[in-house]
Amino acid sequence: MICPRCEYDEAYKVFEGEDTIWEVFRCPRCNFNWRSTEGEEFTSPAKYNTRFKLSEKQIREMAPKPPIPPLKV
Ligand SMILES: [Zn+2]
Repeated sequence: MICPRCEYDEAYKVFEGEDTIWEVFRCPRCNFNWRSTEGEEFTSPAKYNTRFKLSEKQIREMAPKPPIPPLKV
C-alpha cells in the first residue's frame, strides 16, 4: 500500500470493520492514517493535494511534537 501523503510504499492495514466493508491504513514514515472509504483526495497518492504532501526530507527534519518544556527544579 502506498501512502497518499508521502508516497512511502510500506503503508499497511491496521484495522478492518465487520465484513471488511472498510479498512484503516497507516503509514509508518509520516504517521498518516486513512480509511478505505474516504474520497480519492485522501486515499490516492495521485489525487492527494500537493500542498499537503510530505517528502522524506521534510519528515526527517521535523521538530519533535509536542516540544518538551524545560524541567522545573
Ligand atoms: Zn506517509
